[in-house]
Amino acid sequence: MTPQLTELIEMSRSLGDERQDMVILGEGNTSAWADDGSFWVKASGTQLVQADLATFVRVGFQPVLAALERNSMDDEEIKQLLREATLEGFRTPSIETFLHAICLRLEGVRFVGHIHPTAVVALLSSARSRELFGGAVFPDQIVLLGPTPAYVPYADPGLPLAHAVRQSLAEYMSREGRAPRAILLENHGAIALGGTAREVLNISRMLDKVCRILAATLAAGGPRFLTAAQVQRIEGRPDERARRADLK
Ligand SMILES: [Zn+2]
Repeated sequence: MTPQLTELIEMSRSLGDERQDMVILGEGNTSAWADDGSFWVKASGTQLVQADLATFVRVGFQPVLAALERNSMDDEEIKQLLREATLEGFRTPSIETFLHAICLRLEGVRFVGHIHPTAVVALLSSARSRELFGGAVFPDQIVLLGPTPAYVPYADPGLPLAHAVRQSLAEYMSREGRAPRAILLENHGAIALGGTAREVLNISRMLDKVCRILAATLAAGGPRFLTAAQVQRIEGRPDERARRADLK
């Protein structure tokens, strides 16, 4: 077993731990970069909390990314394509494999966690979710998540969601000049993007905390976002940069 796969299994079990409230039952999926041509991704019908070697399949980037350029595919064609793209493992890759391929192609991203924390989905299902995530509210949020996450309007899971994520990432990167550390999926959940498995866990936990804090601010008039200058100060501080490096 490769070190990436060992780390991916541990990360998945941790995200699946009910006490963390990141997912329940078969919710969520995870992936890790394997080599330039392939990646490990959760198979459909498996549970994160029970993750082991048989939970993951190794899939080629090329056929999965090429499918995003095709006009339309029905469910059977998609399943067929995912089975054909599988290089190792006996199960069918998750329907969110397309999304994972896009995320693992971002610079510095080696591990990806897609989660449905209660606090996060609650805010993302709220009437004012877009404005609630329009700024940062406290310093540690910026250290872990950056100034703002990417925000993806609701899309049907599978290929439509992958297209929507790709579109939002392109807009985010042209605006911010770099990839986000977290992606919010409207009325659905979130994606944590890490250089390491530990980073995915840290980002997931911080995002959950941010959402619980945002929900609490609604009882006292709503969030007071930090100013651009305050955000930039946290981003640029050498001690905060060192902390960020430690957390990896
Ligand atoms: Zn999901």
